[in-house]
Amino acid sequence: MNLGYAGRTAVVTGGTSGIGLETARLLLEEGARVAICGRDIGRLDAARNTLGGGDNLLARPCDVLNREQVAAFARAVAEWGGGALDLLVNNAGQGRVSTFAETTDDAWHEELELKFFSQITPLRAFRPLLDRAEAPAIVGVNSLLAIQPEPHMVCTSAARAGVQSLLKSLATEFAPHIRVNSILLGLVDSGQWQRRFAAREDKARTRDEWYGDLARRKGIPLGRLGRPEEPARAILFLGSPAASYVTGASLEVSGGVSRHI
Ligand code: NDP
Repeated sequence: MNLGYAGRTAVVTGGTSGIGLETARLLLEEGARVAICGRDIGRLDAARNTLGGGDNLLARPCDVLNREQVAAFARAVAEWGGGALDLLVNNAGQGRVSTFAETTDDAWHEELELKFFSQITPLRAFRPLLDRAEAPAIVGVNSLLAIQPEPHMVCTSAARAGVQSLLKSLATEFAPHIRVNSILLGLVDSGQWQRRFAAREDKARTRDEWYGDLARRKGIPLGRLGRPEEPARAILFLGSPAASYVTGASLEVSGGVSRHI
């Protein structure tokens, strides 16, 4: 199937690691022009080197929670991409592990700000560019926690549910011109899990043992964590002209860990 990305322009927030990096890689392979952002300059440089891409890649430092930085990123994309944007992938972020008892009010504010404004701020900045494209799309990277909350990730779960609601509303408000969809992730082996593995208490446990045990404990039917390119492929489909009649949808990429019908 031809996804129709040749000559299209895409923005991937948090494109320097994990799922965002793989999404950028696949988009470049499909012939798109891709702009990525992240906060850490070292990771941006590394991503630039890994991705290659020449003039088809724009890599800019930008914290998606900083309105001025996001506005500057949008101006840079407009200049580089010819003024229109075909796809916005709101991917930047991370989860917070804490129960209600452990979560302070400040932590709640921080988490709610991260989850909502990592969508809202880029949406506001890039909307004019999306409006100028012929058949634009937005893909929000969200988590299965939105519909299957976990008590040990209480504020992330609550925020994820709110974001899912936001994206559903936008699918109506932005129709018929812009399609808005989301992916709901289970556990994907990327930066977040690699950091948790590095911080494991029992340093004698190998990578395979630690990840295998994690997949068993979580009851993942496919028996393993996802690889970043697996959600990236789902993002590419939802963001492409091949999904032209899909909006307001969420696609689970979880190895079957969801228990909903
Ligand atoms: P990674 O840690 O590998 O990548 C996260 C990316 O986001 C990095 O490029 C990071 O770069 C960037 N980032 C984080 N915060 C900001 C910010 N404020 N502004 C700009 N860039 C930012 O994680 P994943 O690939 O796993 O995560 C991708 C998305 O998927 C995240 O939103 C995450 O919460 C979500 N998710 C992941 C799951 C998983 O199991 N992996 C499960 C559920 C959801 P830098 O730090 O340099 O800014």
